[in-house]
Amino acid sequence: MQIDIAQNLAEVKEAISDAARAYGRGADSVRLVAVTKTHPPETVRRAIAAGHQFFGENRVQEAESKWPGLKQEFPDCRLHLIGPLQRNKAALAVSLFDVIETVDRIKLASALARHMEATGRRPDCMIQVNTGEEAQKAGVVPGDADEFIRACREDHGLPITGLMCIPPVDEEPSLHFALLAEIARRNGLAELSMGMSADFETAVQFGATLVRIGTAIFGPRQDYGRAAEADRLTSKD
Ligand SMILES: *Cc1c(COP(=O)(O)O)cnc(C)c1O
Repeated sequence: MQIDIAQNLAEVKEAISDAARAYGRGADSVRLVAVTKTHPPETVRRAIAAGHQFFGENRVQEAESKWPGLKQEFPDCRLHLIGPLQRNKAALAVSLFDVIETVDRIKLASALARHMEATGRRPDCMIQVNTGEEAQKAGVVPGDADEFIRACREDHGLPITGLMCIPPVDEEPSLHFALLAEIARRNGLAELSMGMSADFETAVQFGATLVRIGTAIFGPRQDYGRAAEADRLTSKD
């Protein structure tokens, strides 16, 4: 049986606006970023045909093999990078993405600023915070966040719009969402990217403005772009 993407999108959007209303927020205050990683372009097209415009990919190379054609055909689509970015792919990321959610190192910030300067393209940038201080996870640790945000804005002139986090799998996510919201508040940042298929309602409660949802819309992960994985694991800066 083929997954009904239009219906899943409608259900997820309704659950998001229900949660927003339940927590006293506007029904349109939370944007759904549909995460299409591992899914082929045909699947993305079905979501676009259902009227969706905002998408997320977690690997630059997979996005490069999937999105240039789609963006040409559907110029209103907006693509978010939600996975780790290596410095040597900063130029590609600036050309391909409309929002880069995972800025987390000064050298990366500086490379992004350089490529923005060179091309005149300025995708919105968000800073990934490693709220759980997990060794294997990307992101700045909470104690370094204020200074990192300052440096990205003042030293590198990046268009920083907000913060993003991925809570540890085995912990209560609300503590992480609350921490991210507090760091954003004290730095005057409006956007909060937090919440996935399993915990987006809690994220909305704590102020998410972007939720990143894959499985609940597209079903289990597929094989598309797996080749990019080897690259991601072997090269790091
Ligand atoms: C895959 C992914 C998601 C979506 O996860 P689902 O559980 O499929 O909804 C969200 N955020 C990031 C960073 C991801 O890599």
